[in-house]
Amino acid sequence: MPHLHGFTKTSKYKLITRSDIENQLLCTTKLYNIAVSYYLQVFQDHPKTLGQGQWLIIAETLTHRTKFNPNPVYPLDTILPNLPSGLRRAAISEAYGLALAWQSSYNNWQNKKVRQKEKNKERVAKGKKPIVFTDRPPQYPEESNAWPVYYGTEHKWLDKNHIMLKLYTGKAYVYRKIALAEPFIVPDGYEAGSPSLVYKPTGWELHIPLVLQRKVGLKKITTLVKNPELKLCVVDLGITRHATITIQDTEGRVYATKFISGRKDNHLRKRYLEKIVRLQKKTRIIPEGERFAKHLWDKVSNLNDDIAHRVSKQIVEFASHHGAGIIVFEHLGNLKPEKGTKSRRLNQKLGYWVKGRIFRYSQYKALHQGIITSRVNPKNTSKRCPYCGMLTIERYNPGNRCEAGNDLAWCTNCNTHDINADFIGTLGIGLKFRLRHCS
Ligand SMILES: [Zn+2]
Repeated sequence: MPHLHGFTKTSKYKLITRSDIENQLLCTTKLYNIAVSYYLQVFQDHPKTLGQGQWLIIAETLTHRTKFNPNPVYPLDTILPNLPSGLRRAAISEAYGLALAWQSSYNNWQNKKVRQKEKNKERVAKGKKPIVFTDRPPQYPEESNAWPVYYGTEHKWLDKNHIMLKLYTGKAYVYRKIALAEPFIVPDGYEAGSPSLVYKPTGWELHIPLVLQRKVGLKKITTLVKNPELKLCVVDLGITRHATITIQDTEGRVYATKFISGRKDNHLRKRYLEKIVRLQKKTRIIPEGERFAKHLWDKVSNLNDDIAHRVSKQIVEFASHHGAGIIVFEHLGNLKPEKGTKSRRLNQKLGYWVKGRIFRYSQYKALHQGIITSRVNPKNTSKRCPYCGMLTIERYNPGNRCEAGNDLAWCTNCNTHDINADFIGTLGIGLKFRLRHCS
């Protein structure tokens, strides 16, 4: 099973190699890394390039000799003559990514240092000793251990089992034919990206990213809503409940409802967070980054990812089971921090993060079923009364009711009581969608 990462996955193939090819693979990898290190130096000398849209052009102008650029500042051809353009660009891109990652962690380090300084001012004012800032700045990456990425200009597929890769023979870069241990197959709906060479203790491999094609075979919303039989699967993501889902038609009639409780998960996550907070109090370490209480944070993060996978799976299965063509979500909007204990606030923050992930995973899983996802503005979706149409829905104060009753609401206009608030949410979201797309 390929690893799921957003809309891409990676297929790995063993290469059948002889010793002469192996030498060339190794040699090419070394040269590639010399190029990456070279560009790391270029980006280090030109830090303003980082985060700029023109980084590739700037790096090429600084290094690549052409008729129109006869004297580049850092002539790459003096150390790597004839490096194929695809490998050069891949090396620039690799170096750029490394430099950018360094810059971001360097900025974090600097911010932390400034915060520490400010805290120390307060400490000194209170007559306490300042705490010495001992964190070392992240080191700029000078060497690279990357795997060569083969852009389209440097590789050719001969058939499912054979690829031509440009390799350095000791004299020149030439195409060499290499066999794959298994045939390379692009699954339906995917497009293959640039393959990269990877050396494993078991031998050389070719790693090929597969990118999901977003729009292939999918109809647009405007076409879908013309069908009077269209069913919408409307999802309201919540905190106490992971999700409330209804199947509606384009007139707003509800055909099925499903609640996915989040109580157990919330409880478990809250317990981890309480442990972390307690540990922080005990050791008096302010949590910065993930290094502190790492095993507990790992548990939290695994739980979050597990929730997102589980809930998105249920959403898409429910939609598919009822033949829905579109799954409608709300945009997440801004996180409004709640009052309460530290672990409670953390729990809420993570819950918010999980919602975003549930949406992303649902979108991905839905695409596999040929279902599209759509999002609507969340404003007032839980305020409109499904009976009188006014924005007069109020939630009950939860008090000490049982979980099922926690989310009850009533209408202050038509005086309808005991309406499920999450259910109203999905009706509001469905209405928003219809107002936007079905009128
Ligand atoms: Zn009402």
